[in-house]
Amino acid sequence: MIPYGRQDIREEDIEAVVNVLRSDFLTQGPKVPEFEDRVAARVGARHAVAVNSATSALHIACLALGLGPGDWLWTTPITFVASANCGLYCGASVDFVDIDPLTWNMSVTALRAKLEDAQRSARLPKIVVPVHLCGQSTDQEAIRELSREFGFSVIEDAAHAVGATHNGEPVGSCRWSDITVLSFHPVKVITTGEGGVALTNDAAVAERLRMLRSHGITRNADHFQDAGADALDGAPDGDSKAAAWYYEQQLLGFNYRITDLLAALGLSQLERLDEYVGRRNQIAGRYDGALAGMPLQLPHVTEGNVSAFHLYVVRSTADRRAIFDDLRAAGIAVNLHYMPVHLQPYYRKLGFCRGQFPEAEAYARTAISLPIYPTLSDEDFDFVVSSLRTALGHA
Ligand SMILES: *Cc1c(COP(=O)(O)O)cnc(C)c1O
Repeated sequence: MIPYGRQDIREEDIEAVVNVLRSDFLTQGPKVPEFEDRVAARVGARHAVAVNSATSALHIACLALGLGPGDWLWTTPITFVASANCGLYCGASVDFVDIDPLTWNMSVTALRAKLEDAQRSARLPKIVVPVHLCGQSTDQEAIRELSREFGFSVIEDAAHAVGATHNGEPVGSCRWSDITVLSFHPVKVITTGEGGVALTNDAAVAERLRMLRSHGITRNADHFQDAGADALDGAPDGDSKAAAWYYEQQLLGFNYRITDLLAALGLSQLERLDEYVGRRNQIAGRYDGALAGMPLQLPHVTEGNVSAFHLYVVRSTADRRAIFDDLRAAGIAVNLHYMPVHLQPYYRKLGFCRGQFPEAEAYARTAISLPIYPTLSDEDFDFVVSSLRTALGHA
């Protein structure tokens, strides 16, 4: 089968991981902070907190921004379930904003209309999670303006958009958001096997993210609360210095840490980020040319955006199921990204139903993700294009 996406692991990646295996630290050693510093520098954010998945990053991002019971988190229905589940993890309620029919990202027009409604009923969201679908940034300036007007925080789910830029600004710089989350799952642009990062420019938010990643514990003397009685004789007491064994749990956190093995893989992969994004854009450009004239809606990259092209999605008004099954039968593992989250059984039980987000539902009835990854061969590319042409002829 030709997959829709796959990782590219080279000898230098293997060597980087083996070197850690031979070193003193498999986890909580020097590679994690080195990886964090390199990611932060690459995207121009002040702080990076690396964790074991983007899902974990979304969870602690919500907690770090104070999301809890009684609050609302809004996201797009066309995303992976993790973008919405993070709100439920915190005991908050989740709602969705319909998509733009051209970019397939959260519609800013629909967001404004929904915010105006929510204001009337005093149910404004605490957090909005725009998702950079396929690797193309949402209109972050417009969403930032709305966040100021209506008083919500913004977490960018940039799981698809590692290496993308928006109006010259690298996705992840958090210029127009509070936190940005990246994923390093093997199908994404660069990988650590499993892994993710939360980026922010706010030092206090970064400190909370670090604590939440590791049991709610801090070893930073500047942040000790000096719990007194419980700290016993090792405790910092006014000016006195803490004993070497002293730490404080101040929040209820988790073990969401990434390992040094995975951080070393990430460091090695990061070296090739530009190459990967370049190659993905090259393949996307070739698809654009080869598919022009076929009865398909092709990806629209808005002026000012450079997409990371994690996904290359086309929409067909002909029988999508028949086209999909034909391509699968030909050995091409096309996919759908995504079934609308609000129509998942778990979300239906929360009260969501068909018809609530018509653009998202229309998208999900017509979309097909075609193979796109750096090592996709020209031969396989040509086979995908000819198979799609044949399938469209049948449909
Ligand atoms: C992959 C993905 C996630 C979750 O990433 P993990 O690292 O697998 O937890 C979240 N949001 C979106 C949009 C994704 O595609």
